[in-house]
Parts: sequence; structure tokens; C-alpha cells
Amino acid sequence: MLQQTQVDRVKPKYLAWRQAWPTTKSLAEAPLHDVLKLWSGLGYNSRAKRLRDSARAVMERFGGKWPRDIAELESLPGFGPYTARAVASFSYNVDTAVIDTNVRRVMSRIFFGIRATEQSELDEVVEHILPRGKSSDWNAALMDFGSAVCTSRSPKCKTCPMKNYCRAYPAILDQNRMKKVSSVKFQDSDRYLRGQIIKHVIEQGSVPRMALIASLQRMKVVDKKRVVRLMDLLVVEGLVVERNGRLYIAS
Ligand code: SF4
Repeated sequence: MLQQTQVDRVKPKYLAWRQAWPTTKSLAEAPLHDVLKLWSGLGYNSRAKRLRDSARAVMERFGGKWPRDIAELESLPGFGPYTARAVASFSYNVDTAVIDTNVRRVMSRIFFGIRATEQSELDEVVEHILPRGKSSDWNAALMDFGSAVCTSRSPKCKTCPMKNYCRAYPAILDQNRMKKVSSVKFQDSDRYLRGQIIKHVIEQGSVPRMALIASLQRMKVVDKKRVVRLMDLLVVEGLVVERNGRLYIAS
């Protein structure tokens, strides 16, 4: 029910489903019409059918007891490798890694940095570090860590408890710094301020340096030192000349 569907939408349906069919046997005997009616609103209706069909298969092939073995789980209708491992881990604490998008991203960043990783090398590492006997907690924790800390777009690296072990940490910090630099507004850039200084001097023919500084400060350019530095630079570059405290466009 939760695959690609939000928890809030699933919750009432899950409770109603459990009430309607509290046992595998009752679900196995349910008419498809009733199953689809209760499922209505969750989308992907074929899942509802597969769930009912799985209950039937469990009754017929496993005597009503859901298997723990991953290969046997995978033999049920609608069960792929991911679902089989998720059920084995979360229901029975079977030692197996459940690798969803969040887990893949977290593990890939920690062990391989920001380079693209092959599925096989990632699987090998994730299976290797799985703490035996704790798969249910471990897999749930990794999923939560990926959705709350090591998120896809803005990982919280600075406060992350894994930062001293994570291969992606330095590169992601650099990327964030670059993003900040490139997101400086044009109005705050040196280029814009230089243009404003030149504009004022051209419009007024000449302008006292102090008056221009005051004028730019009224435009919320509050850093006087920065304005003075840019004026000096324009003088050094030969675009502006200064005579008796007044700025002119150079001839
Ligand atoms: S340091 Fe950053 S990239 Fe590494 S695990 Fe933590 S949040 Fe993810």
C-alpha cells in the first residue's frame, strides 16, 4: 500500500483492510469486487489483486503461513526482489538488506563519494555491513536517515553524524559553496556596483566621491569599504579619474 503512496492516504485504508480481512484465510476468500472497492483511492489496483492472490497462494502452497525464505516470497504474485526482502526483514528480521532509493543514495555517498556507482558494488557493501540479527531496525534506520538527513537535494552534511566517515562530505560541501556563490543576486555583485558608479558619473558629469558613496549607501549598498574599493579599482583601470575629491570619466 505504501509504495508510491503517502502514509496519510494509506492509513485509513490499511485499518479498514485489516478490519475487513484480519487473516490470510479471510483475504484469500474475498471476492475481487470487494477487494478493489476497499482499495479504491490508492491507485495501482493491480496491487490489490496481487495481494489477494498472494493470500490465496500462501493458503494453497504454504498452509496459510507466510514464508520467511526470500526465494519463496519471491514466488508469490507481485513479489519482486525488493518486496520479498522488505517483508523478510521487517516482518521476520531476516538478515537481508532492503535497498530503496534512500538507502542507495546514503550508502553510495558514504562509501563511494559522489561518483556514479555500479549496482553490484553497492549491493556487496550494503550486504557486507548489515548487522546480523538487527536487519529490521537497521534497514528502517537507513531509510529514515536518507529521508531526514542525507536527502537527495540538500543533505545536512554539516550536522551529520557520519561526516567524518563519509567520502562525499568534502565534495558536497564544495558543491554547496559553489551554489551559494552562483546564487548571489546580480544587484549584489561587483559588476552591478561598478556599473552604478559609472552611471552616476556619466549622468552628473562629475560627482564628489563622498556624495556618490552616500548615494550608493541609500541604495542599500551599506558596505562603504566595498564601494571605496570599487571606485579605486575604476581609477586604477583608467575608466575614472579623481581630481579634488571629484570623480570624472577619464578622457
Ligand atoms: S556527510 Fe552528507 S553526504 Fe555524507 S552521509 Fe552525511 S548527509 Fe549524507
